[in-house]
Amino acid sequence: MFEQQIQIPSAEEILQNQPLPPELARIKRGRDSLAKDVIAGNTDKLLVIVGPCSAHESAPVLEYVRRLGELNEKVKDKLVLVPRIYTNKPRSRGVGYKGMFSQPDPENKENILKGIRTIRDLHIRAIGESGLSAADEMLYPENYAYVEDLLTYIAVGARSSENQMHRLVSSGIELPVGIKNPTGGSLTVMLNSVYAAQSPQVFKYHGWQVATQGNEYAHAVLRGMEDNSGTDIPNFHYETVMRVLEGYGKRTELRHPAVIIDANHSNSGKQFRQQIRIVEEVLQNRLFDADFKRIVKGFMIESFLVEGCQKHDIVFGQSITDPCLGWEDTERLIYEIAEKA
Ligand code: PEP
Ligand code: MN
Repeated sequence: MFEQQIQIPSAEEILQNQPLPPELARIKRGRDSLAKDVIAGNTDKLLVIVGPCSAHESAPVLEYVRRLGELNEKVKDKLVLVPRIYTNKPRSRGVGYKGMFSQPDPENKENILKGIRTIRDLHIRAIGESGLSAADEMLYPENYAYVEDLLTYIAVGARSSENQMHRLVSSGIELPVGIKNPTGGSLTVMLNSVYAAQSPQVFKYHGWQVATQGNEYAHAVLRGMEDNSGTDIPNFHYETVMRVLEGYGKRTELRHPAVIIDANHSNSGKQFRQQIRIVEEVLQNRLFDADFKRIVKGFMIESFLVEGCQKHDIVFGQSITDPCLGWEDTERLIYEIAEKA
């Protein structure tokens, strides 16, 4: 039984009623090409996708991206900063807060229509106020159409990377799509997913049979793994990255071998301060080996105004999902990445 609660207009209608203003669309296109250049190896800059685990409230996210926009001006010769504005949250056990898309007010019931309007408003204001367009997770591929004009980077999460629809929709996106290793850690599953996303595909999408060209900017993201008993095992180390490089080498059809290191999640065991050490180790390995340096194109860092996390939204700018680095540590770390990039 599916009780019909709220009818949701088509993505076309929503985009028409709440459009991205042309001057902001121009900014976004500029950011898109900077991010694509990193993945394609047209520049030595590093991509840094940084921000809260989840965007649960607009005001602190806007304050965060404003700061990030200022910081970007100072490091833009070395880095391309992309704010995480993650509005869809997968849950390990499938229940709990599912993100602003479903719950525009985290303490209230689901309202997806209001959620769509709220996330579009947030993404649009964020571009206007920071000059940066964001990354979001494509948790429900069908919903990508509601934000496709706003994003610069799309993540396929660890719980989604083996899913056919995620792979097919990724193949039609002309932007960097970061495909994470699954929670169990299989590098084969991750690279098969990159292969599927880079391949032309034909499938059903929004009432049409559609054909895609394949997305040359689809790439791998290492986020650590969990063993059978749920213990976190990191996979950002030299040996694993070189194995991914080898995997790319065996799949000669793949374009632009690239790995982004997610410093939190099972890499840090959600010990958020460990993100600093993890990033520093990876930067060190980039100095040690030219092949490692070439394939590691950047970082994903969970960070917000206030470090750590909270169960309920009481502290302004503190995560209500995964624990994050605070702003000062983040700023220091970003300067360090820029220095050693
Ligand atoms: C995230 O980026 O917050 C996230 C849910 O990541 P993962 O899919 O790696 O668990
Ligand atoms: Mn997270």
